[in-house]
Amino acid sequence: MNIFGSKGKQHIEGHKDLTHGLEVINFEDNSGVKVYFPTVAPNNSKNEVLVKTGDSVLVGSKIMVRTDWGVPIFSSVSGVVVGVERRHNSCAGRVTEHLIIESDGKGERAENVLTKLDFESATAEQIIAGIKEAGIIGLGGAGFPTHVKYSGLKCKIDSILINGVECEPYLTSDYEFMVENADEVVKGAELLRRAANAEEAVIAFKVKKDPLAEVFTEAIKNYPHVRFVEVPDAYPMGWEKTLVNQIFKKKYKSLPAECGVVVNNATTAAFVYRALVEGRPITHRLVTVSGDAVAEPRNILTPVGVPAEALIELAGGYVGEEVILQAGGPMTSKAQRTDQFVIQPAMNALTVLKPLDYKKYAVECLRCGECTLHCPAHLQPVEIKLALDAKDFDRLEDLGALNCCECGLCSWVCPSKIEVSDATSRAKTMLRFQQSRGMTKSTKKK
Ligand code: SF4
Ligand code: SF4
Repeated sequence: MNIFGSKGKQHIEGHKDLTHGLEVINFEDNSGVKVYFPTVAPNNSKNEVLVKTGDSVLVGSKIMVRTDWGVPIFSSVSGVVVGVERRHNSCAGRVTEHLIIESDGKGERAENVLTKLDFESATAEQIIAGIKEAGIIGLGGAGFPTHVKYSGLKCKIDSILINGVECEPYLTSDYEFMVENADEVVKGAELLRRAANAEEAVIAFKVKKDPLAEVFTEAIKNYPHVRFVEVPDAYPMGWEKTLVNQIFKKKYKSLPAECGVVVNNATTAAFVYRALVEGRPITHRLVTVSGDAVAEPRNILTPVGVPAEALIELAGGYVGEEVILQAGGPMTSKAQRTDQFVIQPAMNALTVLKPLDYKKYAVECLRCGECTLHCPAHLQPVEIKLALDAKDFDRLEDLGALNCCECGLCSWVCPSKIEVSDATSRAKTMLRFQQSRGMTKSTKKK
């Protein structure tokens, strides 16, 4: 089946006009504002804390290092470390300790935290080392450490693909960032191209996203190895497998590098440039706060570590007594049981929606097959759900459950509004766990 035919992609209502083109608000880092940094990484590995209560820090001071990938984390405010507190961690999915920093409101920036490189002469080795030193991670939601994609590449890389597609409904943070920072995106793309010794860097964004074509035509003028392409407005066009196939007509099994492509998010590319050439690590980011249950949807430039509740308040507060708050876009992120979690570098959105009236829908699976017809990974989501319910992990292997990209399309198209994608996501987690214990047919010792 061709994933670019009518199946496997869907034009879905974008709702992007809610924030499109509106002036970006700054979250004011006033004296007394507290920011929180989880001491546990999204994959539940520990972060080594480098500061203690009473220490003074500046914007950009290194305060923690992830112990799994060695990725440093930097303070987003200037002020004092005032302690540790347990609060909900949306990335780890549980309550964890958070380091608390109280701002002095001065926004003083630490100098010479990062080694600055010369943009023209930096070598591939220097660029990769710089990306690691700066703790650059994927800022499109995934949060995967960028240096890992470039270290020890075993395949010849032809192209770097800079993903600015932002195909999920409501999200406009990448779009707004790209309009304002096209030069930095292009320079970051050029650095990443050189890091992989690739022939070209290709910046992708959706067709008719004015003025992106205009600003990038201008921004790439002096960069002969950088081009941009406009791709159809469909979901999940931003999924790496879909996008690589759309642009290069190539397929791969696990990682795009297998077919000569490395993919990075557009905002990430700009932060590569900022960190490596200007010495500015990730301390702030643009967050879309939108949905039909928030009063004044906006894009907010916020210091990392600000609680979600503060951004919701800045966007006018909730509409209605009951809302669904998601830490990310509506298709791929999970609903949270509290708004006490904090903005982490990879978090591009807070989506606030009115709850569905389930009484309007059928209560059970209609066996209509819509979820299977639209799955871009060619899976049978409802069968995966049934196998999960039956704890049949061999069947989950046979069904290829690990290939689910967690796009949420199966839930979106389901006429009964069954949360099929929740089940496929849980199936992946549980299957991986069973495989790690050698408890599935592919992993049992003969
Ligand atoms: S969430 Fe997974 S199973 Fe559902 S449509 Fe997307 S890829 Fe397919
Ligand atoms: S789309 Fe919903 S109702 Fe139709 S088969 Fe899938 S889970 Fe069942």
